[in-house]
Amino acid sequence: MEPFPEVDNVCAIAIDLPGYADLITANAYAVGSRAFTLIDTAPKFPGAFETLKARLEQCGRDLGEVERILFTHGHVDHFGLAATIRKELGRPVPCFIHAEDARHVTAETYRETMFNESGERLMAMVDMPPEEVEKISERFSLFTSLCDPVLDVETMEEGDVFAGEDYELRVIHTPGHTPGTCCLYETRRKILYSGDHIIKHITPNPLFELRKEILRNPDYQSLKEYIRSLEKIREVDARYVFPGHGEFIEDLPGLISSYRGHHRERMERIWKALKRQSRPLYHIIDEVFDFVPEYDGFLAISEIMVHLELLLEEGRVELVDPGPPAYYRAIG
Ligand SMILES: [Zn+2]
Repeated sequence: MEPFPEVDNVCAIAIDLPGYADLITANAYAVGSRAFTLIDTAPKFPGAFETLKARLEQCGRDLGEVERILFTHGHVDHFGLAATIRKELGRPVPCFIHAEDARHVTAETYRETMFNESGERLMAMVDMPPEEVEKISERFSLFTSLCDPVLDVETMEEGDVFAGEDYELRVIHTPGHTPGTCCLYETRRKILYSGDHIIKHITPNPLFELRKEILRNPDYQSLKEYIRSLEKIREVDARYVFPGHGEFIEDLPGLISSYRGHHRERMERIWKALKRQSRPLYHIIDEVFDFVPEYDGFLAISEIMVHLELLLEEGRVELVDPGPPAYYRAIG
């Protein structure tokens, strides 16, 4: 992996993720020369906390100088170590997340929202075999071991500014990957911290939302929001983009264009599969993806669902039998 460029008040912390090679690393960033803001924390992997501390030391910083932690979104690989950090420091370092993702990091809900009845309903709707559902459920419960909840997380919104002596981070709400995903733009050095909204080596997945009824917009469609959020940041004057995983990015508009091409291609494959034969969605996975790692059954269905929502809206696919399992047909 190409090393991050030197930026005088930034310490880029890239932590290896054994077993999750597709993500390469989980990245956290300390922004500020002395007292600093930490953007994301990496998951509670064995050794991750020690790596985080060692890397900060390498940068000439001390974990004790952290003023606050901002979470780009509510996934375990971004907030998992926050409670460990607070415990080590013996003080409740303020943590912030967009309100739409707050429930993912608090103890009451972060378990139940991961894979609950709405998840099981979706799996029945797509005709996922029970043994596959079991595997997905097991994988989801594994996530809880990679984090500790942050019960008193505070919320942030579009336009909020977190400033220090030599930096200013502006919150840009970019829903799509999750409803509360935010990028942080450091205005003085023109660095965009993109979380999982922008990643260089993979096309980020706008995750299908299982519980739309509790969102601000109950008609929320992940891919539609994601595309809107891509356009929102296309014009950001970013010298570098520092993402939540893998390498830094220089050509933001170019990468965004390649994402749009990827989504169009995925949509055509789904349309063609449903044109060939009207079927429940589990049965088109092999035609839509070239290779699905065994554990990614949920991600495959999620990706099909978010594209299907757009196809339905455009009138290119219709529901022929609500099921379960539901049958869809391509039109045209
Ligand atoms: Zn992530």
